[in-house]
Amino acid sequence: MSERGLLIILSGPSGVGKGTVRKAIFESEDTDFEYSVSMTTREKRVGEVEGIDYFFRKRAEFEALIAAGEMLEYAEYVGNYYGTPLTYVNQTLDTGKDVFLEIEVQGAMKVKEKIPDGVFIFLTPPDLTELKSRIVGRGTDKPAIIEERMRVAKEEIEMMSHYDYAVVNDKVELAVERIKKIIVSEHYRVDRVIEKYKKMIKEL
Ligand code: 5GP
Repeated sequence: MSERGLLIILSGPSGVGKGTVRKAIFESEDTDFEYSVSMTTREKRVGEVEGIDYFFRKRAEFEALIAAGEMLEYAEYVGNYYGTPLTYVNQTLDTGKDVFLEIEVQGAMKVKEKIPDGVFIFLTPPDLTELKSRIVGRGTDKPAIIEERMRVAKEEIEMMSHYDYAVVNDKVELAVERIKKIIVSEHYRVDRVIEKYKKMIKEL
């Protein structure tokens, strides 16, 4: 049997561009991991295709799948359910392929509880790296605005602390390259390969 694949979770604050980065990853030729298509109860947008962008389902169907334990994780986001069907993820990992999830932060934390050895990647907005100028602004902002920016920045950094990697989304192509490099090196981590070597020694 082949080794189990890695579960890769791309997440981050809303509006950071997770969807755009994910699409660019899967449009590039040398991507050799599989995207887990999510399920949602939200309306299909123009151009979206069932089974490619999402599995679009009614609320009652989604709730039945939750009750049957068929979701790896799910979250309610802006009044709709979003979730990751469990069977596809398990079956694909079992074939030795890596599986990539692009999900919001509550869902990512649920995955972390269940599968702590996943690769958790936090996509950060570039302005989080320019924190000072963003917060202080040009000195013309009202204290309430500065305070709100401080609060949002703290929340984002707090979220980041639960992840393994922080990738800045300054340019989509650069973010894509950074994520691919992370995935390649994750495969070489000793804690991921040591069991294989131990088994080899035993069988000598
Ligand atoms: P949108 O409605 O714009 O396609 O997605 C809204 C949010 O839902 C995005 O932040 C996206 O990452 C997140 N999302 C998409 N699929 C899933 C999923 O399966 N689980 C969770 N928890 N969030 C998801």
